[in-house]
Amino acid sequence: MKEKIKEHCIYCGKTEDEVDFFIPSAVNGLGICDKCSKAINDLIGQKDIEENQKQVDALEIKTPKEIHTYLNQYVIGQERAKKVLSVAVYNHYKRLKYYAKHIEKKNDVILDKSNIIIAGETGTGKTLLAKTIANLLNVPFCICDATVLTEAGYVGEDVETILTRLLQNADYNVDKAQRGIVFIDEIDKIARKSDNPSITRDVSGEGVQQALLKLLEGTIVNVPPQGGRKHPEQKYIQVDTKNILFIAAGAFDGMDRIISARLNSNAIGFTESLNRDNIDKKDMLKYIQPQDLKKFGLIPELIGRFPVLTYLDNLDRKALKMILTEPKNAITKQYKKLFDLDNKKLIFDDDCLDYIVDLAIEYSVGARGLRGILEQIMIDLMYSIPEEKDMKEVRITKEYAKKAIDIKGLAAIKEN
Ligand code: ADP
Repeated sequence: MKEKIKEHCIYCGKTEDEVDFFIPSAVNGLGICDKCSKAINDLIGQKDIEENQKQVDALEIKTPKEIHTYLNQYVIGQERAKKVLSVAVYNHYKRLKYYAKHIEKKNDVILDKSNIIIAGETGTGKTLLAKTIANLLNVPFCICDATVLTEAGYVGEDVETILTRLLQNADYNVDKAQRGIVFIDEIDKIARKSDNPSITRDVSGEGVQQALLKLLEGTIVNVPPQGGRKHPEQKYIQVDTKNILFIAAGAFDGMDRIISARLNSNAIGFTESLNRDNIDKKDMLKYIQPQDLKKFGLIPELIGRFPVLTYLDNLDRKALKMILTEPKNAITKQYKKLFDLDNKKLIFDDDCLDYIVDLAIEYSVGARGLRGILEQIMIDLMYSIPEEKDMKEVRITKEYAKKAIDIKGLAAIKEN
């Protein structure tokens, strides 16, 4: 029979009865005592903190102006939102750096997060802005859709799965994910369904808002690494949301009526620059205030967690035309490049571009529909031109566009 050796700590050598608590190992006689185990833990924890600090120190901060300039290459107009987003993202980085080094003292100024809500009609550039910022940044970023979320326990996705995507984009590096930016699209779709607290449960409305609150407040959240509820065996990863920046966006259909009702009933609140006569009735979103979000059906606690509220302008004819031609990867530039690769020069007549814009307005397909319209115009040419070896230049005239366009097809673009 093997003789039992008296257990002792592999680090300090103390025996089992000399220490408060002893963790035995698989090897006879060896283990670790509570004091040594704690010391090792602290050492690793300290190393993690140092590593995190190093990573944060290495983050290259872009100034608001630099961010704005970058956005200008891809997004037309939306000056207010660009400015607001640039400042918010810049402050996000500054805050990260501050808290990575900072040891909290009493009476310290607390830097709040500047979570943002963007209100803007569909197809005016909300997602484009978010994606463009993501391309510029060196923190993880994810886009998720609020419409798929439901209160825990109901058919749909749990709110925590928002962070699954972020974790994936951070290659499951938790420290990195904890510095990330989350874009929540269609936030308006989780508005409370009616003004009265309803008799039936509002599992995709107020229930989700309540669940979201937890994420926004800055707590430790248990995140399923593979998302969903399909993998009940998966172990959760704990993510601290304290430093994650949330940007939410929505079209808020019907918001114009809420804003004009407020402006009409609130004559005392008018300043000289905003009197009844110079209100821009076509673009009411620019007057949006937090109380309008409440009226729309967002709960005050949630609104309070988004201190920055901004809006996107409706796109007018001039903006739509610029979207066709100006951005770095504008649709017409992409077609030109494709033809260029076939050694052909592609030219769009100016009145042809005007015609495309007219169609987009007439059929209310917005900026998103411009691509569909252009595709209809270009498809036959894209099909036949590669055979035309001698043709060096292709010019798209308004007449050609008119013939190529299938009006019935435009209705389909709208439905998409
Ligand atoms: P939404 O506001 O619904 O999120 P998107 O950002 O998805 O709209 O816009 C749809 C498409 O329309 C974009 O991919 C882009 O091609 C075009 N677009 C919309 N707004 C703009 C804009 N301000 N500048 C440039 N392109 C735009």
